[in-house]
Amino acid sequence: MPRVDDLLRRGRGCLPAGEAELLLGHLLARGPAWLFAHGDAAVDAETAARFAALVERRARGEPVAYLTGRRGFWTLDLQVTPATLIPRAETERLVELALQCLPAGHCTVADLGTGSGAIALAIASERPDARVVATDASAAALEVARANAAAHGLANVEFRLGDWLAPLQGQRFDLVASNPPYIAEGDAHLARGDLCHEPPAALASGADGLDAIRSIVADAPAHLLPGGWLLLEHGYDQGGAVRALLDAAGFVDVRTERDLEQRDRVSLGRRAA
Ligand code: GLN
Repeated sequence: MPRVDDLLRRGRGCLPAGEAELLLGHLLARGPAWLFAHGDAAVDAETAARFAALVERRARGEPVAYLTGRRGFWTLDLQVTPATLIPRAETERLVELALQCLPAGHCTVADLGTGSGAIALAIASERPDARVVATDASAAALEVARANAAAHGLANVEFRLGDWLAPLQGQRFDLVASNPPYIAEGDAHLARGDLCHEPPAALASGADGLDAIRSIVADAPAHLLPGGWLLLEHGYDQGGAVRALLDAAGFVDVRTERDLEQRDRVSLGRRAA
């Protein structure tokens, strides 16, 4: 029988650093510290064969998160499937800003295009006194988001099927947040890396990438309480365009914030009080 070390050595030969450990750890339900301490442990033939298959799929380009079905976001370990975008570290910046903008005490939040539920669940976990509603046009994505809410015992989130704000007729919120698709259709990035395995509708939006953002900005004022905030993630070069859309729609206190790599990433504004 092969040992942990043998399998890791084979995996490391064809994968970027750390990924062989992630894949074998996933199959054995063990963390990197266990693998490190148990290099001599025997691995049964079936697990070894499954590991070889995962290594091959990864070497052909499938994202690690889809192979393990997991991705960490904020403080949460989330289920992800090819029906959902893989949550990104940049999006944690949006969560951070949302938490700063929310009023104290009971409040209401909408997360549009929730995917795996990343934004909605991170906010719901930090603010048990908030009611969060998450929408998505994909029933398969909503199923994943619901499972993630249940796995983390978050009962203050509900889910609605539909485009952006469409399932929220007549409802107003203290804060509306979204990480919508914002890449231009036909952009070369869509064919590279993880992106070519992710749902196209979660990534691309119109000729300039701004179709979803235009639609959300146009509809959001009718769904915000006076003084309520709209927060939108966008591309590093879209800050000016998104601020112009927010200004034109009558938002006040409009500004753009940067991500950890100092690139424009989130624009926000509030409905006049
Ligand atoms: N809100 C989810 C996330 O940020 C999904 C975003 C999307 O599919 N564009 O991960």
